[in-house]
Amino acid sequence: MTGASEASESAQEIFRLEVASSGLATLCFDLPGSSVNLFTRQALEQLGERIEELRERDDIGCLVLLSGKAKSFCHGADVELIGGLETAEEGERGARAGQELFRAWQELPFPTIAAIHATCMGGATEISLASTFRLVSDDENLRVGLPEVRLGILPGWGGCVRLPRVVGLTDALDLILAGKSLSGARALRVGLADELLPHDDFLHHVRNFALEVIHGRRPRKADRDLRELLLEKNPLGRRIVFDQARKKTLSRTGGKYPAPLRAIEVIRIGVEEGPAAGFDAEARALGELAAGVVSKNLQHVFALTQGVKSHGTEPAAGPAPRLVGVVGAGLMGGAIAHQVTVSGGMAVRILDRSPAALVQSMTHASRLVYNRMKRRRISRSEAREAMARIQPTLDLEGFRRADLVIEAVTERLEVKRKVFGQLAEAVSKDALLASNTSSLSIDAIAETIPEPERVLGLHFFNPVHRIPLVEVVAGRHTAPEALKRAAAFVRRLGKTPVAVQDSPGFLVNRVLIYYLTESLWLIAEGWPVEAVDRALLQWGFPMGPFALLDRVGLDIAAAVSEHLEEAYPQRVHMPKLRWQETFLDPGHLGEKSGRGFFRHGSGGKRTVDGEVYGHLGLGARDPDPDLDDAAERLILPMINEAACCLEEGVVDSPETLDLAMILGAGFPPFRGGLCRWADHRGLDSVVGGLERLAGVVGERFRPSDALRGFAAAGGFYRT
Ligand code: NAD
Repeated sequence: MTGASEASESAQEIFRLEVASSGLATLCFDLPGSSVNLFTRQALEQLGERIEELRERDDIGCLVLLSGKAKSFCHGADVELIGGLETAEEGERGARAGQELFRAWQELPFPTIAAIHATCMGGATEISLASTFRLVSDDENLRVGLPEVRLGILPGWGGCVRLPRVVGLTDALDLILAGKSLSGARALRVGLADELLPHDDFLHHVRNFALEVIHGRRPRKADRDLRELLLEKNPLGRRIVFDQARKKTLSRTGGKYPAPLRAIEVIRIGVEEGPAAGFDAEARALGELAAGVVSKNLQHVFALTQGVKSHGTEPAAGPAPRLVGVVGAGLMGGAIAHQVTVSGGMAVRILDRSPAALVQSMTHASRLVYNRMKRRRISRSEAREAMARIQPTLDLEGFRRADLVIEAVTERLEVKRKVFGQLAEAVSKDALLASNTSSLSIDAIAETIPEPERVLGLHFFNPVHRIPLVEVVAGRHTAPEALKRAAAFVRRLGKTPVAVQDSPGFLVNRVLIYYLTESLWLIAEGWPVEAVDRALLQWGFPMGPFALLDRVGLDIAAAVSEHLEEAYPQRVHMPKLRWQETFLDPGHLGEKSGRGFFRHGSGGKRTVDGEVYGHLGLGARDPDPDLDDAAERLILPMINEAACCLEEGVVDSPETLDLAMILGAGFPPFRGGLCRWADHRGLDSVVGGLERLAGVVGERFRPSDALRGFAAAGGFYRT
């Protein structure tokens, strides 16, 4: 970027300084051996040394901080730095050192520009806040944000103090508390960026901006005037803003995540008592949060999501399918087709024998596409193109061009076998054939196919556009190459593939079934529906079991539990309730029909349907049940089943299992995962709890040999 330049010596440097005779200097962040920039310990040390040097220079008119990586300005602090913190004191020291570094950056004797051409997260956003100007590119993949709360911490290098002064109090709270990230255009709109520049030729535009700075044509922007900060001079108004933020955070997190609540307090101190007090509070808060168990659990979950490539599935391989066929345009088929075209950008041909189902699925897909457009996730032309890529059809014509076909027809073995038989004839021999079955055996479906090595399960979860997990199910004959291609396809949809073996219920439903069946035992014993749901919400699940039953559909739930009851008769039991008469006969199937355990109103409102107890044949409700008991009865059997899945090799590791339960079943991330939480509690205590329940409630709780084995070995993660 500079003309006559003076390059610094070592090629292995992390920060490369060049100074042109015009006074325009660049400091290029380029972490060796990594595709993204991170603030590693070494990077922080070198930045400190560079700042020392820069302080002494009198030939610089403006300094641009830029990145040598194509897709990363900087992804923030190396998570290992945070993971390595054992005590609050250590964390506090680390925060103070970072604050000091960025203060020195802010106090350089010339203006600085953060030239953000790509992803800018956490610590990187914080150094940009300490820069005089922030320029962002209009690249559609660019995101700027402070995602620290997602790791159970808060921005600790001055972000909590500087951000409100740059974007105002309301937007700062909004960004920090939800760990949000913004596109370049939105960063400009909230005032986080000073200019939005074309991605093509970004550095050329940055250079022109910098030269204008040198020539005094770009006055240094003052921090937002305190009067400009919404309600800043009005303690009452300010209190309302903070109170609302607290309320909103509590309702979103149930108070289970300490970081956002702590961030509100730190931001308040920074605004009301001034920067020095704010920095001090920020450092102390970061230390305490980083050493706490919630942050450690969230860091573990983060590592799981990052490491997913190795969790039984291989990194993306080969080209995207040219055409994806979907058979069955019901609830799932329609939603899968939508996902394939919108998130995967691939062409889809969707088949149903019923024209009405096709019309309905196209209407549903267009509603989802429209919603995305309304939320500005995609543009109008992208929405139009996405819909144009879906072709509805009543026959298999055109399926020969498909590289992958996903079957999502009625959950009956003979129906699926027939469809697979037709597909085997109609599609090319290289195409993968996947079933979205939730309970049938992949081996049984593939039995009548001449090439069972290309048959596998792709188990999507409902609602498809919200649940980030897809189980990639290997049958006995499925070729490893087919699994690799399927996992790569799933990643192209922006979902996380988890490899599981063919067995009844696969992994997530098999473990989750206890969450649902045991809740039925509780109401059979007199618990009110609301109390059971409240108990599990309090435990940290996003939805209580009855709300979930209504979401899944009471017909589907009954079919899945019957199937699992048959498969695992020692452990899965349903209480005898008049299910057929109460729900199935009158068509009260949950959310989809407006009535189930709840009556569902508009806007997602629901109230418990009090008539249900009588119809099910149940008597009076216990007005004061013990909430802890409910959680114990629903969660301990899930751990028992997790042990069986691991021992049988349904899933390759506790890491994969934990990830699948978090992404697919909403297991609370702050607890770190089902196996991790169980280890934390101690498997001996889990075994003891199950034995107690087996004694007082029923044999179905009896701990499995698999669980006893893991307990004897010291835990799931120890073996
Ligand atoms: P659905 O009843 O809504 O849709 C099934 C569709 O298949 C209907 O439109 C029907 O007309 C069509 N169909 C039936 N036989 C056909 C044939 N021979 N040829 C072409 N079309 C045919 O069912 P759904 O809820 O979308 O479930 C579909 C599959 O997905 C099932 O295997 C189910 O177990 C699985 N699944 C469902 C859920 C869920 O929550 N609903 C979740 C995961 C997986």
